Amino acid sequence: MCVFCKIVSGEIPAYKVYEDDEFLAFLDIGPVNKGHLLVIPRKHYPTLLDMPEDEAGKLYKLVHRLAKAVKSALSADGLNIINNVGEASGQEVFHVHVHIIPRFYDDGMKFGWRKLQYSEGEMEEYAGKIKEAL
Ligand code: 5GP
Ligand code: ZN
Repeated sequence: MCVFCKIVSGEIPAYKVYEDDEFLAFLDIGPVNKGHLLVIPRKHYPTLLDMPEDEAGKLYKLVHRLAKAVKSALSADGLNIINNVGEASGQEVFHVHVHIIPRFYDDGMKFGWRKLQYSEGEMEEYAGKIKEAL
């Protein structure tokens, strides 16, 4: 059984802030900032892409609600809402979860996005490939 399934079953404890028949939200044990939440479905799916679309939609509807609560409760200046898909993205727990991370101007944390440049014609190529897969 995965670590988040154990939290769902109550086998290991978590500081839960929300639960219903399908979903659970609790504090991340190693927060980027204090109040960092994880939102999960009770049902085990390894990644977001393994969930049926309507369940993923419900998950993000709840994320929207919880994100508002985190921001207002902690007077956060902003949030990072992150879902990692697969090992290459940094996913470590293979039970789908969405991170809601409160952010503050002075928190000293920087997500280091790099910015590549497309060469001539590449934007058309990449947009085209993705459109074809839809
Ligand atoms: P990932 O890298 O898979 O997107 O994130 C996994 C997250 O789960 C990490 O931020 C980590 O701190 C958190 N985590 C791992 N094990 C536990 C646990 O047993 N309890 C809680 N509350 N969080 C956990
Ligand atoms: Zn699981």
